[in-house]
Amino acid sequence: MKQLVLAGGGHAHLHVLKALAAHPWPGVEVTLISPYARQIYSGMLPGWMAGHYRLDQCAAALEPLLKAAKVRFIQDSVSGLDARRRVIQTLHSGDIAYDALSLDTGAQVDASCLAATGAKLLTIRPIESFVVDWTQQIDRFKQAGKASLAVVGGGAAGVELALAARYRLSLELGANKVQVTLIAGSGLLPGHGPSIVRQVTRTLARRQIEVVQGYAAGCSSGLQLSDGTAIPVDCVIAATGVKPAAWLADSRLALAQDGFIAVQDGQQSVSHPEVFAAGDVASRIDAPHAKSGVYAVRAGPVLAGNLHRVLNGLAPLAYQPQKRSLYLLATGPKEAIMSWGGISAGGGWAWKWKDWIDRRFMRQYDLAPENGIGEEHEPA
Ligand SMILES: Cc1cc2nc3c(=O)[nH]c(=O)nc-3n(C[C@H](O)[C@H](O)[C@H](O)COP(=O)(O)OP(=O)(O)OC[C@H]3O[C@@H](n4cnc5c(N)ncnc54)[C@H](O)[C@@H]3O)c2cc1C
Repeated sequence: MKQLVLAGGGHAHLHVLKALAAHPWPGVEVTLISPYARQIYSGMLPGWMAGHYRLDQCAAALEPLLKAAKVRFIQDSVSGLDARRRVIQTLHSGDIAYDALSLDTGAQVDASCLAATGAKLLTIRPIESFVVDWTQQIDRFKQAGKASLAVVGGGAAGVELALAARYRLSLELGANKVQVTLIAGSGLLPGHGPSIVRQVTRTLARRQIEVVQGYAAGCSSGLQLSDGTAIPVDCVIAATGVKPAAWLADSRLALAQDGFIAVQDGQQSVSHPEVFAAGDVASRIDAPHAKSGVYAVRAGPVLAGNLHRVLNGLAPLAYQPQKRSLYLLATGPKEAIMSWGGISAGGGWAWKWKDWIDRRFMRQYDLAPENGIGEEHEPA
């Protein structure tokens, strides 16, 4: 029996599980290692924060997928990898040997500059910790009867989180009791076109979210900007850039300049042909792209196909990631801003579109009898 280990229950691996459930791979024993028994979909997280979704609507349960795919589950975290010995190390379950390895463990939030904020700091990843922290934070705000909060990070996630927090807290406490600040570093939505930046800027102003351009460091009262200006707040949400897990550095895998796993056109490691990686944990050296869920999802079928091929002694097939993505940013109430190829527009219709796409995307992982396992849908 050949041993295939899937590390991480991320979006690409959900697809591999689905592929295995549809057509088992004879002669291959598959193990999934992931710390949680479900995968929360980040695209719906702002909608959950705003109160539009229950958490279970935003999560794919792994157990039914694993059962259907006949995959062994080790609920644990990968803590190391020795690619030379083909062994993956876990926090509590010992070492696991593999013939082929696929990594979809995502990225971590780089919040080191905010550490001095202490207990007031909430980081967006792991999302499982964030949902607990945010729920407790709402209770604390309710007890205090007012809320002051800063989101650090001017990317799409930071914008959505600030808008969702403002909307939810205004509902809970009244709009005049809530103060939300967005610290946007070098500016809002780096890498996005001027049209969506203008639209998002207007929306943030309309929702009374103060946008501060600049870099903030943590301090006991909240945040301090590089020019010394203090921003005292009760809570800071870190939606800053991503960084690779520390254990990758000792894995002996070739890494890209950003420290993530260097992969080539078939999502195959450039240094170890039996290792594949997809999603935020990987960087395509031939076709660099943003770290976003759309790429993780689209890499899923490629990963499933190429793992199967390699386990059968065949060369992996090349895959070209898309150049443009559709963005649908949730803006707090049931409204969203759509951006595609330099054009942007927003309103309730964009939310309905996003909601429809996201619910349909999640439905494919719900193995209730009425939902066919063969469905294929992409997220917004
Ligand atoms: C608020 C927010 C909103 C976003 N909205 C969008 C959006 O609308 N569209 C979009 O394209 N992108 C969006 N993104 C970005 C998107 O979340 C990521 O790019 C995407 O989740 C990457 O998918 P992934 O499979 O690589 O990793 P993840 O989704 O992070 O999954 C990683 C998996 O690995 C597991 N894992 C982590 N560490 C270990 C370990 N050591 N051992 C074993 N398992 C481990 C995790 O538990 C998880 O199951 C958003 C991000 C945020 C924060």
